Amino acid sequence: MVLRFTLMKDRGSRIAILDHLPSIFPIIRHMALARDRCICVRKVEYSETSQILTLFGRDHGLLRVIAKGAHRATKAGYSKFDGGVDLLDVGEAVFTFDPGRELNTLTEWSLREGNLPLRRYLRGMYLGLYSAELVSLLIQENDPLPELFVRFEKSLCDLGTAKAEETFLAFQLDLLHQTGHLADFAVCVECGNPVTDDRSAYFSPSRGGSICQNCQGVVPDRIRLDPRLIRLARQLLRLPRSNGSPQRLPRLTRHQTDPLNRLFAEQMNHTLGKRLRMPAYVLG
Ligand SMILES: [Zn+2]
Repeated sequence: MVLRFTLMKDRGSRIAILDHLPSIFPIIRHMALARDRCICVRKVEYSETSQILTLFGRDHGLLRVIAKGAHRATKAGYSKFDGGVDLLDVGEAVFTFDPGRELNTLTEWSLREGNLPLRRYLRGMYLGLYSAELVSLLIQENDPLPELFVRFEKSLCDLGTAKAEETFLAFQLDLLHQTGHLADFAVCVECGNPVTDDRSAYFSPSRGGSICQNCQGVVPDRIRLDPRLIRLARQLLRLPRSNGSPQRLPRLTRHQTDPLNRLFAEQMNHTLGKRLRMPAYVLG
């Protein structure tokens, strides 16, 4: 039997090798390579020369790959992954893609954006790494979220500037919203009544939502919050958008963002059943 090898590029930018072959050639089918713009959100050095990476791909969502020989230079003096992939690097990746496999193989990586201003600004870097931690834990594998990818890539640029605090809070709100973790601040999660009290607001990390004045006495893990901050969070979510990103973000200080970041971190610790690593750096 004569096999005809064709290389086709579909609209999702996946290189579909032999996609038309029947499934009686499973080994050949598994060699299909995919290409995607990716952000590195987790990195584990593996052996002396390799890395295991969690990448957030624009068209593929979250995926785990091994970069074999990432730290090994060729005879010509260069490494095939530009010397290794770093956290928050944005690059064009080529990788074997089989959704059934836990670990795919990275075959090419071309760095597109190393986010240098961000790397020179410690506060922005902490917020960027915290964003990456949240992305790596909240997004499901093989669940493409292209809009959120664009938001994340743009946010990494802005985190290297004086707009870092409001950029992080707005991105975090979008991430929680798109992954179904954003609390409903308008209604009490205990009794279902609207939360209208303007003097003080309460939030329960374990219930993942607002608690009204009447119910706060029976919810032991309630966190008291300035209601103006809840209004601020709702305001950020309603800002007009361009290409998915909120426009005219108000300038915020840590005095405003820390209490909200702390509240969401507590909620995520509870939801994920483990303590997040980066809040210790971000919240001081
Ligand atoms: Zn209530």
